[in-house]
Amino acid sequence: MPVLVMKFGGTSVANLDRIRRAAKRVGVEVAKGYDVIVIVSAMSGKTNELVGWVDEVSPLHDAREYDAIVSSGENVTAGLMALTLQEMNVEARSWQGWQVPLKTNSTHSAARIDDIPTDNISAKFADGMRVAVVAGFQGVSPENRITTLGRGGSDTTAVAFAAAFDAVRCDIYTDVDGVYTTDPRITDKARKLDKIAFEEMLELASLGAKVLQTRSVELAMRFNVKLRVLSSFEEQSDSAGTLVCAEEEIMEQNVVSGIAYSRDEAKMTLVSIADRPGIAAAIFVPLSEAGVNVDMIIQNISEEGRTDMTFSCPVDQVARAQKALSDAKDSGDINFHDLIADTDVSKVSAVGIGMRSQSGVAAKMFKVLSDEGVNIKVIATSEIKISVLIDRKYMELAVQSLHDAFELEKLAT
Ligand code: ASP
Ligand code: MG
Repeated sequence: MPVLVMKFGGTSVANLDRIRRAAKRVGVEVAKGYDVIVIVSAMSGKTNELVGWVDEVSPLHDAREYDAIVSSGENVTAGLMALTLQEMNVEARSWQGWQVPLKTNSTHSAARIDDIPTDNISAKFADGMRVAVVAGFQGVSPENRITTLGRGGSDTTAVAFAAAFDAVRCDIYTDVDGVYTTDPRITDKARKLDKIAFEEMLELASLGAKVLQTRSVELAMRFNVKLRVLSSFEEQSDSAGTLVCAEEEIMEQNVVSGIAYSRDEAKMTLVSIADRPGIAAAIFVPLSEAGVNVDMIIQNISEEGRTDMTFSCPVDQVARAQKALSDAKDSGDINFHDLIADTDVSKVSAVGIGMRSQSGVAAKMFKVLSDEGVNIKVIATSEIKISVLIDRKYMELAVQSLHDAFELEKLAT
């Protein structure tokens, strides 16, 4: 029988009532003839609570014990979901990650999936079992220790199972009804998209649209797993939610599909550094070793052998960046006159696969911002994205005016 993967996030399994509701949806798919693999998150708030306990007991904790503890929230929901299904006379049982086994590497708290053998669960399906409930977020290392896939990792579990079992689709049930052209809290003209290409979703996910863990979208793209994001609180229908799929499946490709933003960015400038071979490495290697996620970078033209280097990073990493750079200065690896941190900036981006074939999108974006009197501080582009760094106080205005200018409310469904 065809396999369908259904993943329920924390809010969709927040209490017994919601688990019952989710189980009913599973029952509907079983009745259609699917063998269903259900991936569950911990009840909402549970993982945070567990992380809090770990931090309280041991701030510099053993990562293996962290994983043993924080993975446990999913065990509870998996068992409860299986029991609820059994009460509805649906043949179901639960699996923890190690029982499948979902094999990962040994990078605790951010493990990568190596393999998901299917024989165990497939044999049960062949025996007449209809639903395999699997605890998301967790796996087992070659050393036989419990691992976790990083916060939000149940999405990645779900996509990995869909790939391993060659599922017809991977439905991600969450508390929003799909992927929007922008954040509906910023403009009520935001519209739900029917379909979005993997690459667009990747840009939106990494830009801060927190619907899906970025890794899950990368995995879906690599294995061409059709992903559907939909709300577990709304009426069930085949056209509900947003389908994340290969771009070939999207007939009318949007020039711009969405406006994303990241509110809390910082812009850092190293003033007057020597412009010599190796200077970029001397700056960015220590930053990366310090765990600073550098995003945009610009190097100015140099005068008399000296130049300025500007980069952006999340605001909460500024202190770390300052320390890494002043350490590098102290040890003589780099020399700068000043390090200026502008912590009041946000990043706004226009994303769309149609940009590949259509020119003028950047020009239009800059014109819109200039008409609003918004100064652009840094610009970065990729094939399907244009990002600008602007003063934070203009972020909402920028998102709204770009959403208007690219007529995204007309992408309505
Ligand atoms: N419960 C885990 C978390 O909150 C994994 C997940 O829900 O995706 O990060
Ligand atoms: Mg999530």
